[in-house]
Amino acid sequence: MRMWLVDPRLMCRRHLLGEHVELHMLAGCLRRGKRIGGYLKGLVDPALIACRHEQLVREMSFRGFSHRSPIDSPGCLEPAASISPERNLAELRRRCPACASIAAPPVES
Ligand SMILES: [Zn+2]
Ligand SMILES: [Zn+2]
Repeated sequence: MRMWLVDPRLMCRRHLLGEHVELHMLAGCLRRGKRIGGYLKGLVDPALIACRHEQLVREMSFRGFSHRSPIDSPGCLEPAASISPERNLAELRRRCPACASIAAPPVES
C-alpha cells in the first residue's frame, strides 16, 4: 500500500485507480485494527486518507470513472510519517512511462 500524494492530474490511469484502491485497503486495515507499522515509514499517512480520497475521486470523475464507494476513514490512529510528494512524483515518472508522458499542468496561483 502506498499513498503517492502527488497531484492526481499527473498520474496515469493505472496509478490513479491503484492509489484509490489502496486507500480503501488501508482504511479497511485500520478499521480492522490491523497493524500497518511498516507502511508508516513514508508510504502512507492515515491522517490524510479522507482528504486524499476526495482528491482522487474528483480526478477520477473528471476522467469519467464512476465511484460508488465512500471511504470510511477511521481518522488518524498512529503517528504519521513524512511522505515526500516531490520524491514520489520523481519516482512515478521514472518508473512509469504513462505517468512520465503526462505534461505538468500550469502551477495554480
Ligand atoms: Zn473510493
Ligand atoms: Zn503511472
